[in-house]
Amino acid sequence: MEYDAVIVGGGACGLMCAAQAGLLGKRTLLLEKNDKVGAKILISGGGRCNYTNLHTDIHNFVSENPNFLHAVFSQWTVDDTIQFFQSFGNIIGQEKTLGQLFPQSNKAKDIVGVFTKLMYETQQDIWLQAEVKTIAQDGDAYTLTVLHEGATRHIRSDKVVIASGGLPIAKLGASDFALRTARKFDLRVVDTAPALVPLTITGKDADWYASLAGNAVFSRVANKQISFEENILFTHWGLSGPAILQISSYWKAGEVFTINLLPHFDVQDLIKQERAAGGRRTVSQLLQAHFTRKMVDALGKFLPIDLKIASLSKADAKLIWDTIHHFEVKPAGDKGYDKAEVMRGGVATDELQAKTLESKKHKGLYFGGEAVDVTGWLGGYNFQWAWASGYAIAQDL
Ligand SMILES: Cc1cc2nc3c(=O)[nH]c(=O)nc-3n(C[C@H](O)[C@H](O)[C@H](O)COP(=O)(O)OP(=O)(O)OC[C@H]3O[C@@H](n4cnc5c(N)ncnc54)[C@H](O)[C@@H]3O)c2cc1C
Repeated sequence: MEYDAVIVGGGACGLMCAAQAGLLGKRTLLLEKNDKVGAKILISGGGRCNYTNLHTDIHNFVSENPNFLHAVFSQWTVDDTIQFFQSFGNIIGQEKTLGQLFPQSNKAKDIVGVFTKLMYETQQDIWLQAEVKTIAQDGDAYTLTVLHEGATRHIRSDKVVIASGGLPIAKLGASDFALRTARKFDLRVVDTAPALVPLTITGKDADWYASLAGNAVFSRVANKQISFEENILFTHWGLSGPAILQISSYWKAGEVFTINLLPHFDVQDLIKQERAAGGRRTVSQLLQAHFTRKMVDALGKFLPIDLKIASLSKADAKLIWDTIHHFEVKPAGDKGYDKAEVMRGGVATDELQAKTLESKKHKGLYFGGEAVDVTGWLGGYNFQWAWASGYAIAQDL
């Protein structure tokens, strides 16, 4: 069988690429090492799949060159994602929070179903349990060596799409195939690291964090580059929760970030108001209006929580302000690729044509999805990039 293209990876990007190629009347072969397609889609968003974000903009992405995204996002918008799933799968989007769109059915498998149906109808071939081991340039074409159901096969194609994703969660099929292939073909790879990942705390403060395990606090987490306002979650080993996952994409080992534990109030104003009312309440009583008892007791490690507000010195008041609004955190590390939602870094965007994602050096070789140095925030942005990049590549096959 002669295919217009071979697609490596049956995740979000590869599936969209195959489906769109099919809609254009092309024939593709999709190779997936798992025994099913869309493994990450199926578990995404807690099995509900946050499939796009209504506020998608290039500022929601970490990349050496976020401007690179314009050419792809102008071809495939959030509205295109919504229309696509509505037209081909009757999926109606429901916004949960901060623009995050989920299928009304709350079923990620409905999203995968759209692709399997479309690929069947447009006669795209899928090989499951087909792991691509290597790719070699072969004149104007490429030869892929594939381990398929125990047998080694060689497939030749003029066009190859690498949509094999990033490094997070090996048990879901993640591999370094895209990075390995890029390096083999002399394409620059931006340093990779786990992103959207919980952060660990060790050393003298570890017990303090562990004592608060299970407590969530609405906070503003910030470093020099960026800030996020969402919940943080204390755990037995450090910090998690959406605001921590977000900042993790902008954090490097050894760096400090700050947490404003009460972003919508100024604790100086609260102290002033309490003083005006006589200052008989203690710091603990003042803080209990805003935090759980457990959190206030834990803050007692740093603050004079049993003092009456009236007897606070200027230095006490400053210490309270610093602790509540500028709590410094120096994580020991992150929880690694097994707990990361995405990979930061990947194939450098300056190696790729912005409109088609074809390698500038190697005609017919395309990279899309998480393999590329484009990392979205938490909240549906990563799928929007995966769909859009899959679409853009399909237009060129
Ligand atoms: C727990 C979790 C929850 C998430 N939730 C969300 C969410 O709700 N919203 C959101 O936007 N993003 C979410 N993400 C991120 C999102 O899943 C990824 O950004 C997206 O799946 C990337 O798409 P992709 O097609 O590039 O890669 P993938 O979806 O990872 O697909 C790559 C595929 O390639 C296959 N493969 C790898 N190597 C080979 C090889 N050598 N040969 C053949 N096949 C190979 C893999 O098995 C895999 O199926 C989540 C991620 C995780 C881990």
